[in-house]
Amino acid sequence: MKRITLILLTLCFLKSVTLANEVNVFSARHYDSDIQLYNKFTSQTGIKVNVISGNDKSLQKRIIEEGKNSKADLYITADAGTLGLFDLKGMFQNSMSPAIKSVVPANFRSKNWTGIAKRARIIYYSPERVSANDLNGMTYEALANPKWKGRIVIRQSNNIYNQSLVASLIDNNGKESTTIWVENLVKNMARDSKGNDRAQILAVAAGEADLAIANTYYYALMLSGSKGADQQEAAKKVLPFFPNQGDRGTHMNISGAGILKYAPNKDNAIKLLEFLLTKEAQQHIVNNTYEYPMIEGIEPHKIIKDMGLAFKQDTKTEVANYGKYQSIALEIMLKANWK
Ligand code: FE
Repeated sequence: MKRITLILLTLCFLKSVTLANEVNVFSARHYDSDIQLYNKFTSQTGIKVNVISGNDKSLQKRIIEEGKNSKADLYITADAGTLGLFDLKGMFQNSMSPAIKSVVPANFRSKNWTGIAKRARIIYYSPERVSANDLNGMTYEALANPKWKGRIVIRQSNNIYNQSLVASLIDNNGKESTTIWVENLVKNMARDSKGNDRAQILAVAAGEADLAIANTYYYALMLSGSKGADQQEAAKKVLPFFPNQGDRGTHMNISGAGILKYAPNKDNAIKLLEFLLTKEAQQHIVNNTYEYPMIEGIEPHKIIKDMGLAFKQDTKTEVANYGKYQSIALEIMLKANWK
C-alpha cells in the first residue's frame, strides 16, 4: 500500500514538473491591453503568463528580498533609468537573443534588458501666446532662456520621466552645464511643480502657463476622449512641439523589460520578449497605449501620427545611460529647489 502511494506521489510530482510551462511577469505597467497581449501569447505557445502588478518600488523590493527563491522571470516597467539602475544592482541576466538584437536599435537596449515601446517627452504650447517664430529651433536647452520666465510647467523632480530627461542632458552636456540649466528652468516655472503630466497640459490650456512638458501618450489619451470631454477640449487648445530637431533629436524613453537573475523560466521569458517585439504585438501595443513602436514597419495610432510623425528621435543618446545619471539629476534638481 505504502509503495503504491509512493508511486502515485512520484507520478503527481513528475506531472506538476512537466506541466509548469509558464512565465512569471512582474509588471509596473498598468495596462489592461498588456493582459490581452499575454493571453495571445498563451494561445500561440501554450505558455501560461502569471502577472504580478505593482509599483516599481514594491516589485523591486520583493525581487531583491526573495533573492534566489524569487519566481520572477521578467520585470517590465516604463522608464529606461529604472531598468538601468536595477541592472546596476545586478538584478538582471543576459536578456538578448539574435531575434531581439536584430529588431531593437542598439541605443534602446542594453545587454540585460530591452525597450519594447517608445515615448517622447516633448513640449506643448499655447498657439495663442506662443508663435511659430518663438519656437523656431527650440531645444530642451532653450527652456532655460529668460524669455520663458514664469511661463513653463513641468511635474515634480521626484518624477522618474523628469529624472531621465535631466539624465539625458547630463549625458549630452555634462553635469556643470546641466546644473545651470536646471537652475534657470526652475526660474522659468509658472508655479511650484505639481500634478501629473496631463495636469501640465491642462495648465497651459487654462492659461496658467505657455509651455508644458509631458510624454506624448498622455496628450494622445486626452485627445482620444478617454479622459473625459473636458480634458479632450483642453488638449485641443494646446499643440505639440518636438524639440532639438536641429541637433540630436527629441528625447526618447522606453517601456522595457529584462530577464531577472534568478528567473526559473528563462527560456519562456525570452520567448515572451521576442513575442512582444513581433509585428502583431507591437501593433497591439501602439494601438492601445499610444506609444511609438520599438520595431520598424509599424504605424503608430492615428492620433500619434497626427501629432507629427516625421520628427527626428534622439537615437544618439543611449537610454542605458539614464540610470547612470538619474541620482545626479535628482540631486541637482533638488538643489535648485525644483519641487
Ligand atoms: Fe506614464
